[in-house]
Amino acid sequence: MPSRVPSLAFAAGRAEMGKEEVVEGSVWVPEPTLRTFTTTVFRRLGVPARDAVVTADVLLTADLRGIGSHGVARLPRYVVGLRYGAISKKDASKIAKQTRSTAVIDGGNSLGQVVGRKGMLLAIEKARKASLAFVGVRNSNHYGIAGYYAMMALKAGMIGISMTNAGPLVVPTFGRTSVLGTNPVSVAVPSDKELPFVLDMATSVVPRGQIEVYERQGKLMPLGWAVDASGHSSQDPKGVLEALAKRLGGGILPLGGEGEEFSGHKGYGLALLVDILCGVLPGAAFGLDVYGTEDAANVGHFFGAIDVRAFRPLKEFRRDMDKLIRMLRDSPKAAGHERIYLHGEKSAAMAQERLAKGIPLGPKVVASLRKVGSETGVPWPG
Ligand code: NDP
Repeated sequence: MPSRVPSLAFAAGRAEMGKEEVVEGSVWVPEPTLRTFTTTVFRRLGVPARDAVVTADVLLTADLRGIGSHGVARLPRYVVGLRYGAISKKDASKIAKQTRSTAVIDGGNSLGQVVGRKGMLLAIEKARKASLAFVGVRNSNHYGIAGYYAMMALKAGMIGISMTNAGPLVVPTFGRTSVLGTNPVSVAVPSDKELPFVLDMATSVVPRGQIEVYERQGKLMPLGWAVDASGHSSQDPKGVLEALAKRLGGGILPLGGEGEEFSGHKGYGLALLVDILCGVLPGAAFGLDVYGTEDAANVGHFFGAIDVRAFRPLKEFRRDMDKLIRMLRDSPKAAGHERIYLHGEKSAAMAQERLAKGIPLGPKVVASLRKVGSETGVPWPG
């Protein structure tokens, strides 16, 4: 059963971790309860049991790691896609082409999570024999958090790479309309006693969700997050979102912000690189064409697995990863800061905490899940 927010102090403590803010009026739902609800909704929509479990696992992993924007809050969007045939209920993906160390999967317009997991598993399997492997995916859908797939390689003692392209929201340096997606990249690297390095990041300054938060709160955005239709930095979240929705111009800036001064061109290059590997290379949609038609999103993904043992003994590599992580963690801290984090550390800590205490869901998310539940005949457990 969901429980009420225990105290404001509890909520503030979570925000201090530097992950998502806990919305006022949130309820904490035990992870197994939310997992069962989500899986059952997918089942009721006709998704086969194994695929429902996988899709729910990717969403729940996002919520556990404090990435609520990509967790169960997105369930209504998947429900609409499955209901109206924009996403195939059954896994229709198949290998379109392969060599010993590469493959292209045609996703068959199936759930991105199901196709994504298959793609990464194939990369790992091939890397066991060929030392490293890359798998491109076309004709897929939104796959959630990139980190889920990169982390799959860790258990195999491999370095995992995962990327996806996404609908156009990001404006290229010196441009004034969005052409690229927020195109995330994740790389996961095994260590020994220390936590693994899990970089999982959008290639834009902020995700769209962050701008929506500022709009809801009626606040001005910091300069350097987004541009208006003229191509210059705007602090008006409402204006930027409206212009994006109507495709009037403007959009989110790539990592580094506006122009060249803070290296926006490098973030633009990273976002473009992701689109090349995920879109152009496997023959998926790219740029303006991702989600370009209503019948198929044709999202593309790219997965890689590198077997460390092809370079040096895994034990030595793990030992040196620990050494590097400790060098960073033990290095002098900036004034006002007490610790230096490793990528993936905050998410791992949050996942532990949320496994024990539940996942906080704001009133809007709860209302939308309750609605999804009543539409699919799965009672919301609260
Ligand atoms: P964040 O900016 O929150 O974090 C990016 C990375 O930086 C994470 O690896 C994070 O680790 C790490 N990090 C955060 N703070 C520090 C610190 N002080 N020191 C060292 N490392 C730090 O992520 P984004 O907002 O860019 O992306 C959020 C999620 O959205 C990702 O999972 C991404 O895959 C997903 N996404 C999915 C899209 C799609 O179309 N499917 C599109 C865009 C994004 P930690 O995890 O520990 O916080």
